[in-house]
Amino acid sequence: MMKYSEPIRGIDFHCHVDLYPNPTEVIAACEREQIATLAVTTTPKAWPQNRQWTERSRYVFSALGLHPELVGERHREIALLEEYMKESHFIGEIGLDGSPQYYKHWQVQIEVFTRALDAAQRLGRRIVSIHSRRAASKVVECLEERTTSDRVLPILHWFSSSMAVGRKAASIGCYFSINHQMLEHNRGIRLVRNLPEDRLLTETDAPLTFIGERKSEPTDVIMTTERLAVVRDISVVELRRIIRANAMRVFRFTDV
Ligand code: MN
Repeated sequence: MMKYSEPIRGIDFHCHVDLYPNPTEVIAACEREQIATLAVTTTPKAWPQNRQWTERSRYVFSALGLHPELVGERHREIALLEEYMKESHFIGEIGLDGSPQYYKHWQVQIEVFTRALDAAQRLGRRIVSIHSRRAASKVVECLEERTTSDRVLPILHWFSSSMAVGRKAASIGCYFSINHQMLEHNRGIRLVRNLPEDRLLTETDAPLTFIGERKSEPTDVIMTTERLAVVRDISVVELRRIIRANAMRVFRFTDV
């Protein structure tokens, strides 16, 4: 499955390919531009279509998800998520969201998230892209209680909590996928500067992020890598080598 004798120009570990009006064109652009992309989904009902789109792609991999922002109305789909998890080594987007507009579903969010983690732990060799807005300590606590690093590899997408929580997350095996919007304010820059080098990945969260007025695309991850090199004060060449090595380690974890 890991078709990586292929040349890679960028690595986008969290992108919503199916939220574009033309997903197959976005996938074709990833092939053409050589961007290795994890195409996360927000409901398990989207999984069969996404899997079909990416089946023959050398660069784009589908992940199976149930987004915490949708859990309030879609929590019954957890059974479908658990069922499809048997056939997907990539899980995401799942997680917890503690912001005011989703907090009323906090209990059901925890139930869905922990059931997904339990399934990942049971199945093993699962890579999980995790949303943790205003909920990172709880996410890390759930990971620590429910998973072990030999069976589940967590990637905290758009991590925006404190350095203390970041250190804790790293200590239990978490990776961090960094997007360009995280590098647009001092707090984010300070955080990203201090995350361990061997856990860094890049992402776009496209099309939900912006470059100026336009929605971002997976190819924008090339620019993100350049900005991240500046923030980390290393050369782009060296950072690309590091991100690539980290991504290969993540892909090898699935052993498929
Ligand atoms: Mn997302």
